[in-house]
Amino acid sequence: HYDVLIVGAGHGGAQAALVLRQQGFEGTIAVVGDEPEIPYERPPLSKEYLAGDKSFERILIRPASFWSERAIPMLTGKRVTAVDPVAKTVTIAGDETIGYGHLIWATGGSPRMVPVEGSDLKGVHVVRTRADADAMMEALDGTTHVVVVGGGYIGLEAAAVLSKFGKQVTVLEALPRVLARVAGEPLSRFYEAEHRAHGVDVRLEAKLDCFVGANGQVTGVRMADGEILPAEMVIVGIGIIPAVGPLIAAGATGGNGVDVDQLCRTSLPDIYAIGDCAAHENGFCGGQRIRLESVQNANDQAAVVAKAIAGEAHPYHAVPWFWSNQYDLKLQTVGLSTDHDDLVVRGDTANRSFSVIYLKGGKVIALDCVNATKDYVQGRKLVTEGLSPDKARLADTNVPLKELAA
Ligand code: FAD
Repeated sequence: HYDVLIVGAGHGGAQAALVLRQQGFEGTIAVVGDEPEIPYERPPLSKEYLAGDKSFERILIRPASFWSERAIPMLTGKRVTAVDPVAKTVTIAGDETIGYGHLIWATGGSPRMVPVEGSDLKGVHVVRTRADADAMMEALDGTTHVVVVGGGYIGLEAAAVLSKFGKQVTVLEALPRVLARVAGEPLSRFYEAEHRAHGVDVRLEAKLDCFVGANGQVTGVRMADGEILPAEMVIVGIGIIPAVGPLIAAGATGGNGVDVDQLCRTSLPDIYAIGDCAAHENGFCGGQRIRLESVQNANDQAAVVAKAIAGEAHPYHAVPWFWSNQYDLKLQTVGLSTDHDDLVVRGDTANRSFSVIYLKGGKVIALDCVNATKDYVQGRKLVTEGLSPDKARLADTNVPLKELAA
């Protein structure tokens, strides 16, 4: 039995444990995780770690000693398969049960696979865990052609790393532009052009038929029109399915993730959910119920729960932010752009340093800043305060954003 049991040893789980101790919580805490590793950062798996620029030790969220010094056992390699909200226990695969006072569900999600023939062939990869990244890295030597399915951030980051390694990379995007779900058209077109300039074959409105192989190993991707793209490696990056099965089975309300309130409480007593799997009403998109897949969201929701358990309840209202590194391009985003009805491009995309500023009803709701950290830092206030500056001034790089936020 633990006073606080955290399921999921990822970003949210680690942060919840850490903040509980920072808050002076002296009860027992344990973190159960199904991966063999103690918590590590996931973003480098498609960036510096995949590129070989950072070792695994350098992407650990904290070294092992940190957790032991704070009496936070990391029960790794254990998968929770059921939750009993009445007895207040969880079942670990293999029949072990652990009791809890408060349960924090921080399980993220598992990568979606394209439902086509050949998806079980060797050489078809997803990128969610260290094991996934290691499997890709081990296969690099025998790989000349890579097909990336999905032109979202993870797919594009992997494409950038692998093209830098000299692989011939094709990106297949089903929609008419890359990053279509998360960014406006100018940003999509910019990244599309950047990848093409680096030799990546970006195919939009791509219609995939299946993966083909020989002796159990993928050899190519067949398109709907019959064309076969050679591929010794396929990377599928088309999103995740939130890992909430045991909670939903226990009666928690949810569908796409598990529903939580402003304090990240699920509909079950003393059970909270945070991070990628938590469907919450977000104040930065008009209060719509959404899931956010970002380190910011996992960490900030973890802090909300940890503080609430430690006796300090503050509703979740943190400004969303995110980043993506591709080639020498550092993208930083703040706010949520999906609902925008207007946008301004600040700076010249040809200079590879610019920002896309998103508006709704005249108010700034989000910024995507490419090699433009100053805009990112100064533009934050425009988003948090929902300011409505003049569009011509927003576009004018001679006017610092902090002047418009003053
Ligand atoms: P996770 O960190 O995924 O942790 C969940 C853990 O729970 C996992 O270890 C999982 O295996 C485990 N688990 C699941 N089910 C069970 C169970 N039943 N029992 C026990 N354990 C279980 N975000 C950014 O902000 N910026 C980026 O640049 C960025 N890049 C990314 C690149 C990649 C390749 C990936 C995969 C993600 C990236 N993200 C990025 C997203 C970010 O990593 C996630 O939003 C974040 O990890 C969410 O934290 P979490 O705690 O919700 O889930």
